[in-house]
Amino acid sequence: MSTARQIVLASRPKGEPTSENFRTETVDLPTPGDGELELKVRYLSLDPYMRGRMSDAKSYAAPVEVDAVMTGETISEVVTSNDPRFKPGDLVLAITGWVDAAVVPGKIARKVTTKGAPETTALGVGGMPGFTAWSGLKFIGKPKAGETVVVAAASGPVGTMVGQLAQQAGARAVGIAGGPEKCAFVRDELGFDAVVDHRDPDFRANLAAACPDGIDVYWENVAGPVWDAVLPLLNLYSRVPVCGLAANYNDGGFGDRDRLPATMGVILSQSVTVRGFIQTEFAADHWGAFLAEVTPRIADGTIAYREDIVEGLDAAPDAFTGMLTGANFGKLLVKVS
Ligand code: NDP
Repeated sequence: MSTARQIVLASRPKGEPTSENFRTETVDLPTPGDGELELKVRYLSLDPYMRGRMSDAKSYAAPVEVDAVMTGETISEVVTSNDPRFKPGDLVLAITGWVDAAVVPGKIARKVTTKGAPETTALGVGGMPGFTAWSGLKFIGKPKAGETVVVAAASGPVGTMVGQLAQQAGARAVGIAGGPEKCAFVRDELGFDAVVDHRDPDFRANLAAACPDGIDVYWENVAGPVWDAVLPLLNLYSRVPVCGLAANYNDGGFGDRDRLPATMGVILSQSVTVRGFIQTEFAADHWGAFLAEVTPRIADGTIAYREDIVEGLDAAPDAFTGMLTGANFGKLLVKVS
């Protein structure tokens, strides 16, 4: 019988997760039944949404139960297939969780189709985070030529795509990132029109200087003090796709102060459209169009990106915790095998 190593949620974190909140176990794998696949995991994607699943606060998705395997999407190789759509050696995407091997129903697996781009991009700019950027811009942000689009967490997979897709629509892309290295990457390698470091003491003034015509689309990835700096710059009829609130994730979502009165004042006076979304809203109808449009541009290098790959399943908890305060530099992945 084969075994699998897995990382489970040992307890719910209060604030920043610690090693106490995770536990590694070795379990026996069942023999795959009818329609099932045995998978050997190659890469595990670590994503900010997982912090929400560690909490039992009301949310759009059910929490991971204590003692259950941490949730997560992986790229795996099929070892055994009892589903005629797959054969041993195929690479598949599936939500197996933080494991190095799994037996899953074939119906939850999708073949990796990166058309020549590295397979890992199927978890990043060519996968769920890339689709988030593509769909949120297309259906909510709707940037037009000549407009200014601002996005924080600009070196991560969502921000990377928001800026580059905005530029392809003829807009000016302004990135916000943490620290000089990330800022240099966003400006020089992603090719954003401007970039501002949110850790710089002059961040507010620097953001205003980088947006001389104000902000038409602010893509909300982080909230907190970045939102304070964005608010006075929002233009009449600006749009704010609310995608993520990374600065709030470790403190339960309350933030460091009440921003509501100032926020509502600007929404009213500038007729701002603020629209939250979870990418699954658009996935069923538009995933195919996203892959058809974006995958060839990743493969031919038109879309630039960066990955941050850590080695071994045991590295997952620390890498994940670091991401919540910006320690990752690019799409965070664990090379499991
Ligand atoms: P990233 O790889 O960009 O990692 C998160 C980044 O957030 C960090 O690297 C850091 O970048 C930034 N960050 C963390 N804390 C703060 C802070 N206090 N202030 C400012 N920046 C901070 O993540 P993704 O690209 O995968 O995701 C980006 C956002 O999109 C997240 O909020 C995520 O939850 C959201 N998301 C939403 C989806 C949806 O369906 N709505 C789907 C997928 C992602 P830096 O060091 O540059 O500040």
